Parts: sequence; structure tokens; C-alpha cells
Amino acid sequence: MSFEQERSAAIEAVQKACQLCQTVQAELVTEETVAKKDKSPVTIADFGAQAIVNQHLLNVFPNDPIVAEEDAHILREPDAALMKERIIHHVHTFWPGASEEQILISIDRGNYEGGPQGRHWTLDPIDGTKGFIRGDQYAIALGLIENGEVVLGALGCPNLPLQADKPDGAKGCILIAVKGQGAFIRSLEDDSETPIHVSEIADVSQASFCESVESGHTSHSRSSQIAEALGVTAPPYRIDSQCKYAAVARGDASIYLRLPTSPTYQEKIWDHAAGSIVVKEAGGKVTDIHGAPLNFARGKTFEPNTGIVATCGSFHSQVIDAVKRSYEQ
Ligand code: AMP
Ligand code: MG
Repeated sequence: MSFEQERSAAIEAVQKACQLCQTVQAELVTEETVAKKDKSPVTIADFGAQAIVNQHLLNVFPNDPIVAEEDAHILREPDAALMKERIIHHVHTFWPGASEEQILISIDRGNYEGGPQGRHWTLDPIDGTKGFIRGDQYAIALGLIENGEVVLGALGCPNLPLQADKPDGAKGCILIAVKGQGAFIRSLEDDSETPIHVSEIADVSQASFCESVESGHTSHSRSSQIAEALGVTAPPYRIDSQCKYAAVARGDASIYLRLPTSPTYQEKIWDHAAGSIVVKEAGGKVTDIHGAPLNFARGKTFEPNTGIVATCGSFHSQVIDAVKRSYEQ
């Protein structure tokens, strides 16, 4: 299947969400964040982006379910009135005339549980909320899963320089991949696309690795131990969100390590669907820390998988061995 219609719908939805997020990030004020149960900040842009992406997908594919990170229950509380007003204001730029109820319903259309059968989308409206609030990197991550396998990913990175070698140049890009069709990068504005490819280095000691900024999301101490064991001397490239997958996919880094900080944390499918297919289609490899493929068929989380190792491919098994040895010490 070519997924032509899905590809263009995903790009358009992510483009709009990127613009909404950029506008909100530019005027970020503290009232715009509320505490979620897990204490991670949720922003106007998070809800706004989810409303816009879901609405766009449902217009084009009315029968496709969506597994998205957010739900609107918090917005139905009386003290959310101000926040809701701001969300509606931002959503109206892309969905003029939408009523409050239509917007809340659109957000809640992301309530599918996922699973092995049929097809569904998965959305992280803002991956890397902490980066977003810091004014750093974040991503709008949209994936399409068919019978438990990711077949399409659109990764919007509004703050990522379009060209890695021009960090002060134009910012904002979308990485797009369809199974079997390769991976591409495009700016947020125009339709021209450039193919991307992972780094071609074969000697692991020449590798550079990226990881979360947040030490609660990955073990920095273990990654530095692993880097040392592999002879990697480059300092870690710490960057929020699935921009780490973008970095590996276009060769800015050659390894992405996500090493569990808690034995009970389950990785979520929306944190990895778009990014993992972009890396694979760019020629790289993505597994859990044991070298097992990520299982997108289990619902919202990767129940049997632990952590993430993504690499440019050539030395993936060497990295997995080093990770394994680090747990044996
Ligand atoms: P990053 O920007 O790579 O640090 O990842 C952000 C994502 O980390 C968020 O979307 C969360 O879903 C996820 N997250 C939250 N808690 C944890 C945790 N304890 N371990 C790993 N990931 C987490
Ligand atoms: Mg996320």
C-alpha cells in the first residue's frame, strides 16, 4: 500500500499543530500550565494540538481510531474556564467556528486503547513538554499502526534546525516516513522534501549518542558507563522529545539510549511510533535494551519491552551487548 492519502493528511495535521505550538510557545505564561496527575506539565498547546490533529484525521478518515496522550476531562472542571478559553482561541486559527464542545469531543476522540487488530493512529500532541516549557526542543509525533506494526510516522520538530550543520539557520522541520518508502525531511512551510539517511560510521568508538535531558526519563550514569565501555569519547547530546530519533535518522547522532530509571515504567507507543519508523526508514535500527523489536500490538504501552536503543544500524548488536554487560556489573 502506498499510504499516499494518509501521508499527506499526517503532514497537514502535523503542520497545523506545529504552527499552533509555535504560537503558544512564543507567548507561554504560567497560567497556561496545569499539573497532571503524574505532575508533568500540560499546556494549552498540548490540548490545542491534539484537538487540531484529531479533527484533521477524523475529517479525512472518519473511521480511524486514535490513541492519543491527552483527554479532556481536566478541561471539564469549573476552574479550567480560563485555560479552555485560550485553547479555543488558538484552535480557531485552524478550525474556525468550532464550538467548545466540538473541541473537547475532538480531544476525547483520542481515547482508543490500541491493540493488535486493524489500524489506528497514535499521537503525542507535544512530546517533550518539559523542553517545550523551557523553550527548547519538543515534537508533535503522529504514527499510523496497522495490525500491530507502525507503517507511517510524521514527526514535527518546530524548533529543530532544518539543517543540522546550520544551527542558527531556519528552524522547524517535519520528518516523514512510510514503511518501505524511505525517510524524508521537509520544512514546516513548503512541500519540497529531502531524503535523509543515518550516519554511515561503522566504528562504534566514533559514535555520538543522544539521550533525554531529564535524568528521570533515562539513566545518565548508565549511559556514560556504556559509552566508556564502547570507547565513545564524544559527550552526550542531550535533547528533549523524539527529536532524538530525528537526530539519529539524519546522522546528527548515531546512538539513542533510553535506559529505564524505574523497573515499573512502561514506555508509551506515542513516544516511539513516529520516531522509530523514521529511524528505520532512514536505514537505522530500533529495539528495546535487550535487542527485541518494539511491540506496538499490546495497546498503549510496550508491555514486554524495556527501554530503547536506536542506532544507525552497523553496530547495533555491539551496543546491545554493552548495555547487557552494564546490567551484569
Ligand atoms: P524525553 O523528552 O525523551 O525525556 O521524553 C519525554 C517523555 O518521557 C514523555 O512524553 C513521557 O511520556 C515520558 N516519560 C515520563 N516518565 C518517564 C520515565 N520514568 N521513564 C521514561 N520516560 C518517561
Ligand atoms: Mg511524550
